[in-house]
Amino acid sequence: MDFEHVLVVGAGQMGGGIAQVVAASGRRVSLHDSAPGAVERGLGAIERSLTKLAEKGGADPAEVLARIESVDDLVPADLLIEAVVEEARIKVDIFRRADETLPPAAILASNTSSIPITSLAAATDRPDRVIGMHFFNPVPVLQLVEVIRGLDTSDETTAAIVALARDLGKTPAEARDFPGFVSNRILMPFINEAAYAVLEGVAEPEAIDTIAKLGFAHPMGPLALADLIGLDTCVAIMEVLQRGLGDPKYAPCPLLRQYVQAGRLGRKSGRGFYKYE
Ligand code: NAD
Repeated sequence: MDFEHVLVVGAGQMGGGIAQVVAASGRRVSLHDSAPGAVERGLGAIERSLTKLAEKGGADPAEVLARIESVDDLVPADLLIEAVVEEARIKVDIFRRADETLPPAAILASNTSSIPITSLAAATDRPDRVIGMHFFNPVPVLQLVEVIRGLDTSDETTAAIVALARDLGKTPAEARDFPGFVSNRILMPFINEAAYAVLEGVAEPEAIDTIAKLGFAHPMGPLALADLIGLDTCVAIMEVLQRGLGDPKYAPCPLLRQYVQAGRLGRKSGRGFYKYE
């Protein structure tokens, strides 16, 4: 399966990055977002990223951008990659509508960080062709794609998405459909514990991130990473972990909730644990 035409739904930080790498691989992309101006903002971010990459020998930005069209609604395509906010109700609605709009042979993939793939598949009449395709942020830079099989995802669908991930220059790793899959089941408790260390006054955010960077050789500390992911997204993922695994140890740290209530969502709102210009 070549997936010559890909529909990306959600033009935020992840959807924009996904549209960029898919278009850079020579495929046609239709990009949809329900918020006014979101696709235009997404295209602006893609252009800035492509311009930076072109300085290091990457593809011609104009050529890549010419392969991305903005669409007002879901359109037929060979593949859906859904990257809207981490809210089950919204994702289920998109999968239901995509099942009606995309041809029966098309694959429906979600970039969800934690919402069960099986629950998205249940909203369609093609659970064998529903799968998780979990990219990492920033998508044009990070190599990993976590491929998540739902209960009924077929071997053919998995093989096609693994092959696509490789064709995009990524390295796929397969996981089963358990809350948070592998990446966020490990990462989110780490971020949460760092937030508790701030809440309890154990250390300042800069010190916590320095300890992770220099002590554990992480390229970025957990609090800077939480700001990059989005504190709203972190809270949403932890709620899925807590509900899905039934263990209170996954409850989001109250400080994270309070920052989200204050609109301190991280980089995307200009302030989280740190301030951004
Ligand atoms: P974001 O807030 O930057 O963007 C989400 C976009 O979805 C917004 O532009 C919003 O307008 C749009 N949207 C909301 N409802 C919609 C609808 N009904 N139809 C179309 N568009 C709609 O969020 P993000 O960081 O890009 O995250 C998107 C998804 O990717 C989430 O599922 C998240 O868990 C996952 N993810 C995020 C990261 C990360 O580091 N941020 C990493 C991997 C996966």
